[in-house]
Amino acid sequence: MEIEESEAPPSPRQPKEPPKIRRLDVSVVNRIAAGEVIQRPVSAVKELIENSLDARSTAINVAVKDGGLKLIQVSDDGHGIRYEDLPILCERHTTSKLSTFEDLQTVKSMGFRGEALASMTYVAHVTVTTITEGQLHGYRVSYRDGVMEHEPKACAAVKGTQIMVENLFYNMVARRKTLQNSADDYSKIVDLLSRFAIHHIGLSFSCRKHGAARADVHTIATSSRLDAIKSVYGVSVAHNLLKVEARDDDPSSSIFEMNGFISNASYSAKKTTMVLFINDRLVECTALKRAMEVVYAATLPKASKPFIYMAITLPPEHVDVNIHPTKREVSLLSQEVIIGNIQSVVESKLRNSNEARTFQEQTIEPSASCPIIASPTVAKKDRHYNPSSSGPKSQKVPVQKMVRTDSLDPAGRLHAYLQAKPLTNLENTNSLTAVRSSIRQRRNPKETADLTSIQELLNEIDSKCHSGLLDIIRHCTYVGMADDVYALVQHNTNLYLANVVNLSKELMYQQVLRRFAHFNGIKLSDPAPLPELITLALKEEDLDPECSENDDLGKKIAELNTNLLKQKAELLDEYFCVHVDEDGNLCWLPVILDQYTPDMDRLPEFVLCLGNDVDWEDEKNCLQGISAALGNFYAVHPPLLPNPSGDGLQFYKRSKHLSASDDGIDFSDNGGNDNKMEDEIDHELLSEAQMAWSQREWSIQHVLFPSLRLFLKPPPSMATNGTFVQVASLEKLYKIFERC
Ligand code: ADP
Ligand code: MG
Repeated sequence: MEIEESEAPPSPRQPKEPPKIRRLDVSVVNRIAAGEVIQRPVSAVKELIENSLDARSTAINVAVKDGGLKLIQVSDDGHGIRYEDLPILCERHTTSKLSTFEDLQTVKSMGFRGEALASMTYVAHVTVTTITEGQLHGYRVSYRDGVMEHEPKACAAVKGTQIMVENLFYNMVARRKTLQNSADDYSKIVDLLSRFAIHHIGLSFSCRKHGAARADVHTIATSSRLDAIKSVYGVSVAHNLLKVEARDDDPSSSIFEMNGFISNASYSAKKTTMVLFINDRLVECTALKRAMEVVYAATLPKASKPFIYMAITLPPEHVDVNIHPTKREVSLLSQEVIIGNIQSVVESKLRNSNEARTFQEQTIEPSASCPIIASPTVAKKDRHYNPSSSGPKSQKVPVQKMVRTDSLDPAGRLHAYLQAKPLTNLENTNSLTAVRSSIRQRRNPKETADLTSIQELLNEIDSKCHSGLLDIIRHCTYVGMADDVYALVQHNTNLYLANVVNLSKELMYQQVLRRFAHFNGIKLSDPAPLPELITLALKEEDLDPECSENDDLGKKIAELNTNLLKQKAELLDEYFCVHVDEDGNLCWLPVILDQYTPDMDRLPEFVLCLGNDVDWEDEKNCLQGISAALGNFYAVHPPLLPNPSGDGLQFYKRSKHLSASDDGIDFSDNGGNDNKMEDEIDHELLSEAQMAWSQREWSIQHVLFPSLRLFLKPPPSMATNGTFVQVASLEKLYKIFERC
C-alpha cells in the first residue's frame, strides 16, 4: 500500500524521542482503505459483477479499456437502484444487504460491507446509470470521494444498471505505474469472467475490450455445466473431465456438499486451473488447491497440473466470509476434515479412471502395426497441452492402435502402470505383468533395462519402509521450526524433533525415482557454464585457494568433468531433465516437487558431485547416484547466509564493523547507541537472508510436510540416526503438571 503524500520518516540519527501521534486526514484514511479493497483493475471488476449478481441480473456484460485503468464498464439487467438511494450509494458502509452484525453470520449475498463502490470513488471516477422497474426513464450520476458530483440527471436507460469506472488509481501514482507496466490485467479480467461464467450457468456473460466487435468471453444461459465449460475453456478441456461429488451429513465432523469436474489422465497443461466456489462465492483456498495438486502428482504424475472446478456448499454459519479485505479468501469450520474428505474422493476417482484405462490396455493383442515408442527427441521438453494427442480425437483411433505410445500421453509409459494402485488379486497382477512385458518388447532394450533398475530401487524403498515412522509422518502435525535444521512435530500425544534436511533429502531422492523420465522442467534464466560451476565448487571445497598449483588442477578437473557430462547429456536430459547444451551450459533442471525450486547456491556442489561421485559404469549405480545427487541438491538445506533471526544477525553487522574500526573508530563500547549500530548492518544482504529463510520456512510447512505425508517411505535408519527424536510425551507432561 502506498501513501504518496506522507512525510519522510524521521531519520534514525535524530534524538530518540517517541514520535508524535497524529490523526490522519479522512481522505487519506479512505484512500488507504480503498487501495486495500481495490488492489488491481480485476478486483474492481469482481466487486461490480458481484453487485450485479446480487441485483438478480440474468445478463452481465463487461467492457474494458487499457487493462481496466482507463475504463471498466459493467452493465447488467438487474433490479436497478432506487432514485432516493443514489445520494448515499457511494458512501462508505452503505449497503442494502446487511443491517445487524448477526446478519453477517448467515449472509448469502456477495456484498455486505457497502465498501466497494465507495472505495472505487476514492481511487477513480465513477458514473452510475440505472433504472428501476416501472420507471419511464433512468438516472445518471457521477461520484468522487464518496459523494455525488451533481444531482442525478434523467436519461434514457435500458433495464438494470451500468457502472463506469474511469481512470482507476489516477491519484495513486506509484500503483498506476506498476500496473501500467504489467500487461496481464486484461487477461486477469477475462480469467475472472470465465470463472463466473462456468459457475453461474443460468446467466449470460460477456467480456470484451472496449470498442472490439468480438467478445473474449461469451456465454449464454444454459442448464449444462459441461456446455458452459466447453464454451469458455474449449472442447479439449470439456472432453477430458470427470464428474466428482462428495458430501458429509454428519454434524459431528463436517456438513458439506461438493460437486465438480476434474481433469483426467489425458489432460495436460502448464499450470493448474482451480475454479472454486464456496456458497456461490468465488474464492481461493490454497490448502485445498495444494491438496489437489498433491493427489494428482501421486496418481497421475504426467497430468499433474489439473483443471478443477468445484462448488462447495456449507451451512452459511460455517463460513467466515469476512476475513479478507476483498473477500477473496474465506475460512471454514472444520476445513481440514472437508479437505481430507474431498481429497480422498478425488484420489479414488482418479485411480479408478486410471485403472479403467489399464484394463482397456490389457485386452489388446500385441500387433505388428503398433508404432514403436516415440524417439527420445520427441519425448523432450514439449510439455505443452496438445489437444491432438488426447480428447475426442483419440477415441476415434481404431482399437488395434490403441496402445498408447505417445510420450505425451502418460498411459503410454510403463510409469503409468507403476503408479497405479497396487492390484489386489493375483490374477490382475499377472495380467498386468503380461501387459508390462508386452509393452517392454516394443521398446528398445536400453529402456527396458533402465526401467528395471529403477523399479528395483523403488522396490527396495518399499520393502525397507519403517512402518512406525511411516505412521508418524503420515499423521503428524507440523508445529514449527525448533532451530535451523529441526522441526517440531506432534504425533498423537508425542512431540518429536524431525531433521528436515535428512527428511527432504530422502523424499527428493524417492521422488526422482518415481518421476523418472517424466519430469516437468525448470528453465534457468541464464544458462550456467559447467566449467565455471565446477571451478566454483572446487574453490568452496579448497582449503588453500591461493595455491596456483591447485588452480591448474582445478582447471583440469573442470575440463574433464565438463566433457564427461557433455557425453552423458542425452541420458541426463531424457531421464532427469537435467539439460546440458552443446556448449556445456546447464539450461534445465527437473521439478521434483511442485512449487519447489532448489537453492541455486548449491548448484556448483551438485554439478561437481555429478562428475565426481556418480559411478557411470554400472547402470543401476549410475541412476541411483544421479538420483541421490539430485536429492541432496533439492533438500531444504539451511540457506548459506546465516539465519538473521538468531545469533546469525552478528554476521550482517560484522563486515562494516571491521571497516569502521580500521578507521580507528570502535563502536563496540558504544552499547547504548542503537542508531549507530543499526547503520552498520548490511541491509541488502540482511534482507536477502531474511527472504531466503522465510521462503524456506514457508516451503517446509506448505510443501515439504504435506508431501512427506503423501510420498515418503522412511527407511529404518531414520529411527536411529537422529532424523526423528522424541522429545516429550504430552501425557507424561500433563501428569507432571497435575502434580504441581
Ligand atoms: P455491498 O455490495 O457490500 O452492499 P457496494 O458498495 O458494492 O456494497 O454496493 C452498495 C449498494 O449499492 C448495494 O448494497 C446495492 O444496494 C447497490 N448496488 C450496487 N451495484 C448495484 C447494481 N449493479 N444493481 C443494483 N444495485 C446495486
Ligand atoms: Mg458489493
